[in-house]
Amino acid sequence: MSGQSILEKIISTSGDEFYTPIPKGYVPGKTKFVVITGSVISGIGKGTISSSLCKMLQDRGMNVEPIKLEAYLNVDAGTLNPFRHGEVFVLDDGTETDLDLGTYERMLDKNLGKDNFVTSGKIYQTIIENERAGKYLGRDVQFIPHVTGEIKKVLRELAVKTKADAIVIEIGGTVGDYENMFAIEAMREMLYEEGRENVCVINITYVLQPKSLGEHKTKAAQLGIRKLLELGLPPNIIICRSENKISEKTREKISLNSNVPVEKVIGVHDVSNIYGLPLALRKLGLDEHILEALALSKKFKANGNSKLEEWNRQTSCDVTKPVVIGIAGKYTGSSDTYISILKALEHCSFATKKCVEVKWIETTEIEKGKSLADALKGVDGVIVPGGFGARGIEGKIAVAKYCREKNIPFLGLCLGFQVALIEIARNVIGLKQANSTEFAPDTKYPVIDILPEQKKIEGLGGNMRLGGKDVEIKQGTIAFRLHENQKTIRRRFRHRFECNPDYIEKFEKAGIVFSGKAPGYPIMQILELPKHKFFMASQFHPEFTSRPLHPDEMFLEFVKKSSEEN
Ligand code: GLN
Repeated sequence: MSGQSILEKIISTSGDEFYTPIPKGYVPGKTKFVVITGSVISGIGKGTISSSLCKMLQDRGMNVEPIKLEAYLNVDAGTLNPFRHGEVFVLDDGTETDLDLGTYERMLDKNLGKDNFVTSGKIYQTIIENERAGKYLGRDVQFIPHVTGEIKKVLRELAVKTKADAIVIEIGGTVGDYENMFAIEAMREMLYEEGRENVCVINITYVLQPKSLGEHKTKAAQLGIRKLLELGLPPNIIICRSENKISEKTREKISLNSNVPVEKVIGVHDVSNIYGLPLALRKLGLDEHILEALALSKKFKANGNSKLEEWNRQTSCDVTKPVVIGIAGKYTGSSDTYISILKALEHCSFATKKCVEVKWIETTEIEKGKSLADALKGVDGVIVPGGFGARGIEGKIAVAKYCREKNIPFLGLCLGFQVALIEIARNVIGLKQANSTEFAPDTKYPVIDILPEQKKIEGLGGNMRLGGKDVEIKQGTIAFRLHENQKTIRRRFRHRFECNPDYIEKFEKAGIVFSGKAPGYPIMQILELPKHKFFMASQFHPEFTSRPLHPDEMFLEFVKKSSEEN
């Protein structure tokens, strides 16, 4: 059997101890794997660095496919609280993921799907379904080899499906967490089975700098990396995050304690512009180190075709006179809750070269009596973002009314679309008690009501209208002009409620133009007030499909109108 790789030997062994299902068509060594783990603490930009790294490799001509392995037991991110965990990002295929998938999509300018996001809950669900179906042939089902085997299978299936040159695996959490232990174990097995030249392990660690000492201390990083060594996953490269630049001496210390050559211990301190990261990482030699680890340096030689410099130029704006955009929502202090909206605004600033400054408008304060003039002081345009539940709703309705009456640019997103309709029903049509049945189930005028198809489905998880869907654009409208005369666009949705079709005519008589609707159904998806400076809203989330160099059209017009002098 000489000449066989370890993986081939495992495949051909009938021994019960192995559980390494290999998908049909899988060719060992054809797709390489880059494993990214974090140590010391979370929240140090692992997702941002991982996506920048993907961008840098993509620029080198590689076909890279990211996958995030989340440690939590939820099957997807749909039921997570965005105020606690950050925004729920929706993919075109309807998968509800965490915000990192948004970062990957924006960096790589590419749509991802359910195979790019795997939670522990999803892995367990598969295992339990398999066990109930008798697929484990009488074996007791164990973490090793079954859970780790399912993880490896997911990775190899992605390799077969995408034919990627490399799959970049971001392991959620930090090394030493209880929750991601078996994902790390699965990576150790991958390393063994695929061979060292097919798997590059990167650890992103954090170097502390206690104020009282002023200097960098590496102990926590050392311990984190040691833990990784203990777990059998020796890193090829270490990325040290820190607030300030770390010294050569600090890198040497980490090198000595981790068996990673000092030139492969890379310092990445805090930067204000994340779009500069792919080029910065290249300048630090990271792409060369990864390619070298994977024996790909010859295949993907640097050929002078890099577009990263240009990308840097295109993703900048002029700070001298910012446009101030108010976001009227509920806050707990974390901007991650609305990250895609902030990014979509940033994309507009790249196109207009005018930087956007965000002002948070807490709508519960308006309900408590804060004046609208005060709340919206200095604001050039207002967004009412998506949301669930009644808290803060009356404040949002008041904000919409103020913008409509004072000719202030207004952009409503999902819930913001519904808020605009409630406001107009109450104050233009005269249906004073108009509401959504989400907030007032017995309202006399249910202008927003639950979707007929959603009414049939019970329970919380899984009863939303989700994912990318076509939107038919009405000719001759602002939406039609903005989308360059396209009759149909595709946008992403995440909602249960919609404009009640019984009220469409009344709204149209009141001056609303429904410029986008679902093909074949009376489901309204875009509204506009043609006489207003800018008053538009959509039932979908345009922020999910905005990309750095292709800002969403509605967002862009909103920012342009907001920056115009009155
Ligand atoms: N709560 C509203 C609905 O379910 C809006 C949802 C949202 O803004 N994503 O229809």
